[in-house]
Amino acid sequence: LLEIKDIHKSFGNLNVLNGIDLTVNKGDVIAILGPSGSGKTTLLRCINYLETADAGTMIFNGKSYDLSNTSKKDVAQLRKYTGFVFQNYNLFANKTALQNVTLGLTVARNVSKEEANVIGMQMLEKVGMKDLATHYPSQLSGGQQQRVAIARALATNPDIIYFDEPTSALDPELIQEVLSVMKTLANEGMTMVVVTHEMAFAKNVSSHVILMEKGKIVEEGSSKNFFENPKQERTKDFLRKEE
Ligand code: ATP
Repeated sequence: LLEIKDIHKSFGNLNVLNGIDLTVNKGDVIAILGPSGSGKTTLLRCINYLETADAGTMIFNGKSYDLSNTSKKDVAQLRKYTGFVFQNYNLFANKTALQNVTLGLTVARNVSKEEANVIGMQMLEKVGMKDLATHYPSQLSGGQQQRVAIARALATNPDIIYFDEPTSALDPELIQEVLSVMKTLANEGMTMVVVTHEMAFAKNVSSHVILMEKGKIVEEGSSKNFFENPKQERTKDFLRKEE
């Protein structure tokens, strides 16, 4: 589905990504782990053109993209097939839950309002938010807002969804409701790349794990191998600290 080659990205003289390669197959759920500042969020943002890389290429659904050159056409083309869930939900405050979910359909896809509402309600139902469809973000808890954001990402029927630390802004008691929605999506075969600090999610839900440090991949492998039989000392050390 997705093949990324040799991404580099610096902010000023801070090298954040130092040559990352990544392959994602359909149905993979990839957890990206790593200490704070290792470049995880930047990687995710670069591969959805939310950030322009200094170098790097990507093949997605058979089409190649230059990650260091964001043309409007390429951005639009790529985003047709991708969804993105942000750490801070990024919902429109002056729109209801349902309007937040349907906006991408009516504005970007020319779907009629009626049809968008039907799809929107289906997506809200999927994340357990149907009854709160007319609520505004300020009337919702963080966990509820994040579930609306997931419904929004699902609405356009993407081939892959990127999650950037989706539970980091949540109070501990709200984390599970979001992880449980993500687990359901994973079980249904959705392809997902998830930057996370949730070890239990990485261990129990993801199919593959990547450990990043200083803009490089330290170790990658199946979730089982990564946790049960890590090869790198750095990985063992990381896992000890996260226990
Ligand atoms: P965390 O787990 O803390 O979110 P991360 O691994 O996701 O960390 P990034 O958010 O990718 O790390 O950031 C990597 C480094 O790049 C950090 O030192 C950060 O301060 C820096 N950085 C990120 N975005 C920018 C930016 N727009 N301008 C300048 N520096 C940035």
